Amino acid sequence: MSVETNELTKELARIKNATAIRSFCYTCPWNCPTEIFVRDGKIVYHKGNPESPNDIGSRCAKGMASFHLTQDPDRLKYPMKRTGPKGSGEFERISWDEAFKIIADKLKAIKKKHGPEAVVWTCHHDPNTVFARHLIGDLYGSPNCYAHTSGCEQDRRMACLTLFGHVFPMHDFAHSKYVILWGMNMLGANQGLFESRALLEAKKKGCKLVVVDPVFTETAQKADEWIPIQPGGDAAMALAMCKVIVDEKLYDADFVSKYCDGFDGFRDHLEKHGYTPEWAAPICGIDAETITRLAREFATTKPAISAQFKGAGYYTNGADAGRAIYILDALTGQVDGPGNIHLKDWAPLGAPVVIPDDAKTTPKKDPLHIAMGYPLAPDLPNSRLPEAVLDGDPYPVKAIFVQSTNPVMSDPDKNKMIEMFRGLEFGVAIEIYMSETALECDLVLPETSFYEQAEIRQGLWLGPQVILCQPAVEPPGEAKPLYDIVQGIAKKMGWGKYFPYKKWEDWGEVCMQDVPMSLDELKKTGFWAGEVRYNRVPDGMPTPSGKIEIHSQAFKDAGFDPYPVYVERSVLPDDDYPLQITHSKLSMHCNIVTQNNPYLMEIVGENWVEVQTADARKYGITDGANVVVESPKDKITIKAKVVEGLVPGTVCIRHGHGFGHWAMGSVAKGKGAHSNVLMDRHTSPISGANCYNECKVRVRLA
Ligand code: SF4
Repeated sequence: MSVETNELTKELARIKNATAIRSFCYTCPWNCPTEIFVRDGKIVYHKGNPESPNDIGSRCAKGMASFHLTQDPDRLKYPMKRTGPKGSGEFERISWDEAFKIIADKLKAIKKKHGPEAVVWTCHHDPNTVFARHLIGDLYGSPNCYAHTSGCEQDRRMACLTLFGHVFPMHDFAHSKYVILWGMNMLGANQGLFESRALLEAKKKGCKLVVVDPVFTETAQKADEWIPIQPGGDAAMALAMCKVIVDEKLYDADFVSKYCDGFDGFRDHLEKHGYTPEWAAPICGIDAETITRLAREFATTKPAISAQFKGAGYYTNGADAGRAIYILDALTGQVDGPGNIHLKDWAPLGAPVVIPDDAKTTPKKDPLHIAMGYPLAPDLPNSRLPEAVLDGDPYPVKAIFVQSTNPVMSDPDKNKMIEMFRGLEFGVAIEIYMSETALECDLVLPETSFYEQAEIRQGLWLGPQVILCQPAVEPPGEAKPLYDIVQGIAKKMGWGKYFPYKKWEDWGEVCMQDVPMSLDELKKTGFWAGEVRYNRVPDGMPTPSGKIEIHSQAFKDAGFDPYPVYVERSVLPDDDYPLQITHSKLSMHCNIVTQNNPYLMEIVGENWVEVQTADARKYGITDGANVVVESPKDKITIKAKVVEGLVPGTVCIRHGHGFGHWAMGSVAKGKGAHSNVLMDRHTSPISGANCYNECKVRVRLA
């Protein structure tokens, strides 16, 4: 669809003799709206969509380099069937028809012998996975369609859901005067250009930025104050700040009495446990005076935000750390006002496929996360999946579909994950590259990238927003969008009538039925945006009590403390392994999407381990040397960076390399080291999240 609504866009299209297509970037999950200029079937330029409210006029380096996806010779092009042993990489090309038939036959056989729950589908959070949920969930009857959140922001998500009944808060940084980021590297990890810029703009206007992080990250480097917390100490520090705010009556009494459930009990809980700054200081490594001062500053400077993403998670106490961090917002009445965490409205996007009730199969067993004993987990505790496959605990899993996920490399204990895939009756990978997980599967199906397919999804902006990704170029070989793959399987299963669409616009129209914009208009604009609304807490929260639940009945019913508690990490350094591992991402990379990108790999071609100066002296590590990082489980060889900005006794692995494959990825192969092999499968008992940072190591020169 040619775009003619913007003079610059028109002029660029003219100069480049290209067609402009409005779309969005899916190099990272923040989906910045974009304009793609295409000539003769090739992308010749791309930039941000200047009319979208969450455009910042450009894209980050990852986004700019991502067009390489459309010309990468290492992309998967044809459906393939394994011919050699699992992991051997021996595959033969087959037709789509044969692939669909193999899958349908296997699905039928597994259902007959083991029941539908023996099939698990895991994916990223792509909106198009809804098609797979209809197929494997509604029609086939498996309760086990999951995403990858246990390896991502599961603790934060769970905290947000139980407190606010909201799955994904945004942050109105633009209007903030005080921001505390807990383990959230806005400017270095994949955290969205729109919010990152709003934060920097706010800072220019005088907003104080405090970063609580064991690592002197890119964001900490821009902060007014870096709080070098001990790994896993966030819950203790946040609870102590809560206590200061409660004891000194700095909370918003009117807000908590009207809109929060459980304030009085929380005050008693803090007292009973003695969660004072003096108690927290030795745990989190921050002195009591600083904790007290930060609590006072936060409570008295309005508007303010206490925000988190992944970093405070990845520990045994991650879910309660998440709750304590958000309770700071609630106690001070700083929820959903201008300059606060923002409980965004969702756009009225409809489901593209509706399965009639009489065609649905009702699952007979609980979904795995409940059967595994994680009733509150918002997603599958992935680390526990090997027990289901290898031991039939809590019930047998015989087939796994992985779509845009790579559990062999994403989850702790790579070898256990490989053993799991080798123990399966049937594994299918739907991917753009041959991942390590795909190597362990029976079938590998090539999926289109975001440049070659349509997606309609909720935008990550303050207001309700619909964003559209349109196919800009032809896919490589025979790669197909997920809808076509699901439709092909459904036809072989006898369910073709439920997936009737011939082109993406057909299901796109259905999605847009309740959005006050037509699909044709959306193709021109690339987005629809509604009004940003504030201060909706008095309208009632989507929680069981209708209030912000400082006291969580759901936690209590599940056998946990209804108020957040501090629990020590399950793995602590000792004489043999004296260092604690932590992680930070690289701004130039986002997992599989960027690892085989020659432009990004030229900028950052391998990762490294950061070793604090004092530890480097102690263990004889020099800057730039190759070192061995060794845990009780495994070891990796990686380049060392000796840094001052890191909590002593901690090493920080810059995460996102060493996937090595991708797999046949000629650029990625052999570059960097992957730290997940060092970890055991520790899982948060509440949320089921992977505790990636609960790992002790030692470091020596290679
Ligand atoms: S922030 Fe993410 S979505 Fe936006 S341009 Fe960069 S990689 Fe793309």
